[in-house]
Amino acid sequence: MSKFISLIFLILFTTKISCAQYNENFGSTDECYGKTFSIAAWVLTDTTNSIAPLDLSQVLVAIDSLNQKFKGICVNFRLCSFDTLPNHRQDTIEKGLHDEEIAALYRKKNMINLYFATEIVNPQPGANPAGYAPMGSTTIPSDDNQRDAIFLKKSAFTPSVLLHEIGHYFGLYHTFETVANGEELPDGSNCATAGDLVCDTQADPNGENNGDCNLDPQIKDPTTNLMFEPPVCNIMSYYDNQFCNYHFSRGQLDRMLSIMKTGRSYLW
Ligand SMILES: [Zn+2]
Repeated sequence: MSKFISLIFLILFTTKISCAQYNENFGSTDECYGKTFSIAAWVLTDTTNSIAPLDLSQVLVAIDSLNQKFKGICVNFRLCSFDTLPNHRQDTIEKGLHDEEIAALYRKKNMINLYFATEIVNPQPGANPAGYAPMGSTTIPSDDNQRDAIFLKKSAFTPSVLLHEIGHYFGLYHTFETVANGEELPDGSNCATAGDLVCDTQADPNGENNGDCNLDPQIKDPTTNLMFEPPVCNIMSYYDNQFCNYHFSRGQLDRMLSIMKTGRSYLW
C-alpha cells in the first residue's frame, strides 16, 4: 500500500517538475513583472521616400511579437508614437557619427526610441548591419541621448530583428559571445561566467546550419573534445532557419528581468 502511495506521489511530483521546465515558446519563469514599456518610432526618409519605406503596420506586427515572447514574465510593449521625418539628410546612419545627432534631435525620454534608416553603417567588424542597440546592464546608464536609442535598417526590419535588439537593450549577449566574458565550454562547466552568462543557452561556435536545425558541418570543442549543440532557434543567435520558432530561453528572460528592475528601471 505504502509503495502505491509513493508511486502516486512520484507521478505527481514528476508532473509538477515537467510543467515548471523550460518552454520553448517563451521560456517559463515563476515571476510576473507586470510592466508595460513605451516605444517611440522615428522613420527617417530620403528626399524621394522611395527606398524601402516602412509603415506603421510593420512596427505594430513586430511589437505584437515582442508581447508574445515576453508574455512569460508579464512584460508588455506599446507603441506611443510613430513619426516620419521627411527629406532627412541622414537616411544613412553611421554608428558613432550620426546616431548621437539623430537621437539628440528626436528623442522621447524614458521610452525605447526606434530609429529606422535606409542604411546602417557599423564600422565594427562582424557587427550586424540590420541594427544595433545600447547594451543593458544592472547599472543605470548616464542620461545621454543614445541611452534608449535603437537604430534599425528599414529593408531588413522583421519582428526577429526587433526582438534581437531588444534582447541586447535588456542586457543579453549573443549566444556565441566570446570577447566580453571569454569562451563558454560545451560541457556547461563555465556557463555562468563565460559566453552569454546564461546557462540554458548552450555554447555556440556560431557555425553554419544550412537552414537546418543542426550544425553543418559539426564542430568539436578542442578543449573538452565535445560536440557543440548550439541553440539554433534562439533569438540571440545568428542562425537562420525558416522552421524555427525563435525564442528567448528561460535564463535569458530571467537575465532581462533583473536588468529591467535595475539598469532599465527608469523607463516608463
Ligand atoms: Zn546582436
